[in-house]
Amino acid sequence: MKSLLPTKFGPYGGQFVPETLMPALIELESAFVQAQNDPLFHREYDQLLANYVGRPTPLTYAKRLSEILGGAQIFLKREDLAHTGAHKINNALGQALLVKRMGKHRVVAETGAGQHGVATATVSALLGLECVIYMGAVDIARQEPNVFRMKLLGAEVRPVKSGTQTLKDAINEAIRDWVTNVENTHYLLGSALGPHPYPTMVHTFQSMIGREARAQILAETGRLPDTVIACVGGGSNAIGIFSGFLEDKQVELIGVEAGGQGILSGKHAARFGDETKARIGVIHGTKTFVLQTPDGQIADTHSISAGLDYAAIGPEHAMLRDSERAFYTSATDSEALNAFSVLCKTEGIIPALESSHAVAEALKRAPTMRKDQVILVNLSGRGDKDLNTVINTIGGIL
Ligand SMILES: *Cc1c(COP(=O)(O)O)cnc(C)c1O
Repeated sequence: MKSLLPTKFGPYGGQFVPETLMPALIELESAFVQAQNDPLFHREYDQLLANYVGRPTPLTYAKRLSEILGGAQIFLKREDLAHTGAHKINNALGQALLVKRMGKHRVVAETGAGQHGVATATVSALLGLECVIYMGAVDIARQEPNVFRMKLLGAEVRPVKSGTQTLKDAINEAIRDWVTNVENTHYLLGSALGPHPYPTMVHTFQSMIGREARAQILAETGRLPDTVIACVGGGSNAIGIFSGFLEDKQVELIGVEAGGQGILSGKHAARFGDETKARIGVIHGTKTFVLQTPDGQIADTHSISAGLDYAAIGPEHAMLRDSERAFYTSATDSEALNAFSVLCKTEGIIPALESSHAVAEALKRAPTMRKDQVILVNLSGRGDKDLNTVINTIGGIL
């Protein structure tokens, strides 16, 4: 059967799934396309985005930070102010509404740090869906407050004890459950990853970030930004803000991966940054850049921020990188921690450690730019969830 939408991004993307899942992907694509053409879907989604999620999120001029750096003017798109504290709710809500349209009543999802699990449990409670979250046993021990949050929200959290007992193993289990229960179950994937239609769908369900930010920065400054910066785990918050500027060729788009303890240490999640380990491969249903061992196994990754700690990057980013429409760099754990502290003290905003990677890149670039230039940073989430990590690393010097 022919797909309704393009399934690939240049040579990347596609649908590398067992035959038993193809009907579910076709059904999902069809529901997504129908919903996109249905004003009733948009009305319900937009109302919930406004009255439940709290959109549009503000655009904040980081005045003191800009003055201290002495170069470009920095603006922050405040996804940290969305309900549940990050951009993930935008996509979770869009997919949950599709679940209802498909007549399904159960969702499964994977989570690493628990942020996507919390967003999924939240929209499941809101819409009355049964919710099962797969989470590696190691992550469960590391992220207790989020496990408790998901349970409070009515979700069942299933520990995954296979493999490294972390995110990639949780994804495997979620897919296994989906294959088994595909009649009534939707796999609510949390980033711009996975088989088609997920990367396109997640792009769409995060694109309001870029639409809002473009209008807000035009209203505020009367011009487009010179540079847009976002952190890149799977790539959903980045593609969300980039999507508002893809046609504005003069706007430079920068994705920031997790540099961990430095590329040379091997302990990082910089899929584009490490030519010795990153190769094109197939992972969890999609073809993209994957950090691999010499014999083609998925390599272990490291980042201080759980949300950036994944061996693969969304396929659309691989295409944007090839075409040089977007550029990718990395920030190390310590650069992210420094940016975290700086933003706390200069702007009174505690950012997520993921978002701190994007802030770190702004700290590097702003001083090299003119004062009449503009940097837009996507502040993907708030840092409350990261306080333990931060206390354990830089707490002693406070
Ligand atoms: C999950 C998460 C990310 C990384 O996911 P993307 O899909 O790359 O956006 C970034 N920031 C925050 C706050 C997150 O929770």
